[in-house]
Amino acid sequence: MTTAHDAGHGERDPLGTLKTCFGYEAFRPGQREVIDAILAGQNVLAVMPTGTGKSLCYQIPALILEGLTVVISPLISLMNDQIKALRESGVAAACLNSSLSPEEYRSAVDDAISGACRILYVAPERLGKEETRRITLSRPIPLVVVDEAHCVSHWGHDFRPSYLQIRDFIAGLPGGPLTAAFTATATGRVREDIIASLGMGDPFCVTTGFDRPNLYFAVERPRDKLAALVKFLDSRKDKSGIVYCSARRTVEDVAAALAARGFPAARYHAGLEDGERRINQEDFINDRKSVMVATNAFGMGIDKSNVAFVVHYNMPKNIESYYQEAGRAGRDGSPAECVLFYSPQDVHTNRFLIERSGDGADAPDQEQIARQLELLKLMTFYSTGTDCLRAHILRYFGENPPGYCGNCSHCLTNYKARDITVEAQKILSCVYRLHQRGRSVGKTAIINILRGSEEKRIFDNRWNTLSTYGIMKDTSAHQARLIMDYLVEQGFLAVAEGEFPTVGLTAKAREIIAGKRPLSMMLPEGPAPAPPVQAAAEVPVDEGLLARLKALRRRFAQEAHVPAYIIFSDATLTDMCRKRPATPEAFRHVNGVGDVKLEKYGAAFIECIQADSAPP
Ligand code: ADP
Ligand code: ZN
Repeated sequence: MTTAHDAGHGERDPLGTLKTCFGYEAFRPGQREVIDAILAGQNVLAVMPTGTGKSLCYQIPALILEGLTVVISPLISLMNDQIKALRESGVAAACLNSSLSPEEYRSAVDDAISGACRILYVAPERLGKEETRRITLSRPIPLVVVDEAHCVSHWGHDFRPSYLQIRDFIAGLPGGPLTAAFTATATGRVREDIIASLGMGDPFCVTTGFDRPNLYFAVERPRDKLAALVKFLDSRKDKSGIVYCSARRTVEDVAAALAARGFPAARYHAGLEDGERRINQEDFINDRKSVMVATNAFGMGIDKSNVAFVVHYNMPKNIESYYQEAGRAGRDGSPAECVLFYSPQDVHTNRFLIERSGDGADAPDQEQIARQLELLKLMTFYSTGTDCLRAHILRYFGENPPGYCGNCSHCLTNYKARDITVEAQKILSCVYRLHQRGRSVGKTAIINILRGSEEKRIFDNRWNTLSTYGIMKDTSAHQARLIMDYLVEQGFLAVAEGEFPTVGLTAKAREIIAGKRPLSMMLPEGPAPAPPVQAAAEVPVDEGLLARLKALRRRFAQEAHVPAYIIFSDATLTDMCRKRPATPEAFRHVNGVGDVKLEKYGAAFIECIQADSAPP
């Protein structure tokens, strides 16, 4: 490992360190405030959503303050990733966790004691260990950073008992170091808990907005989810992304179906063997497989910055989970897509799982179950509503966003309120007529009857003799389904789960059939929208050059045994394509190129770019 912080040594200027060491031109919202507060000697609690750049908020002070900064982090994979990234930027960092071999562990301890290291990542279980004490007594510790600080709270979604030791650990350090706590999600309650449990007194608190402007949000209701996914992936072959499914079984089916169609897809869920999980994860992180099909077991602590899309094949159980998973897209700030494939079935599955979770020994109580069902309802509103998706999410997190963002499928769709009283009457009557004959059937059969389909099943059942047969000939199947789903959501129809879900009338339906009340809903007009950032990428980049730069990056990554995005992010390569630097000075201006990376990689990348510009 090289002499690290030399790039920023003696520098007391955060912006200078940001440029020379990390190669970025400007701070993102919240970063400067946190850094300034730490440098002014204040404890800090920062609540910043995933991907907004929490790490630099403590890495820059660590390079400026004298001594060794200790970072407590619960996620080993994330820790290892951070260290690789820091070392690539020329910062001496080490970690103490259970993934190290005895030799690696010893050398990390030696580095930390000798002063060769500026930032030490420690797993919470290691805080009480003898070596940790030795290290912290041998050097001044100006700053202790608590990453994923919500883990200290019983009210957070990921409580870890080992986090309760942190307070005593900090109190036992000579010199009274500062504490800086970071988390991506925290309600008021969790925030108070963090401050109290870590003994932070009256810290400087920063909450950056939850908005991630580079993310495009969309909700689709494909009839055939697999076909929709294949179509989606077909037009994004050069991109990397995650497909989240709610069940292990679905992960396996979807991954196999994609592989059979020639997509480089890996799979991940908690039921796979450790070995396979690790290999699949590394294939994805190192871009050997561009698509990861996974349950929500995948992603915690994965820091891959070039995830261009996250598709949810099933609706998750609440908005918080959705935003966390979807937020793994576009970490490097490039435009990225978050698409949810909704089907009403997802609501039933989630409700079933939540209700069943009450059965076990240490099960949540009725009150908790009721709360979870309430959260599920909010997620369902997100999936079935027609107003701005981003606004919906941000309101959930307590913000007050404008009602139009211009970068979500709802803002880009022309929804018009339409009177659907007649259509609703036709659908409900059809269900009623079937009921009179002692039959209840699924949605597809009902739509086929209403649209006068001539399939065999209709004649076998003599459904063509129903008075409602063919009375919606002029309505498209898609439209009929949208209306029928709406009737279910509004409680005029109820779906009975079974081997084949069937549809029946509710008491409420009578008012509509009897013509006692009109009904209207928002229906889309015109074709489905395309994400604007994709449709009009600011300056088109030379895809050929980008591919060659990626190949070069892959070579360096393999040599250094690190994931490709640790060498340069996709955003950095794209910026290279735009700027086409011909000299080291020009290369230095590419976003994401600091002094150390300029020296290591500048020549090779400049040569690649210039070879490309040379006449044949
Ligand atoms: P978080 O921990 O908040 O999820 P990270 O610290 O991993 O986010 O940062 C996400 C990505 O954003 C990283 O690739 C990082 O290099 C990049 N980044 C952070 N700060 C800036 C900045 N000021 N300008 C450009 N990119 C940045
Ligand atoms: Zn919007």
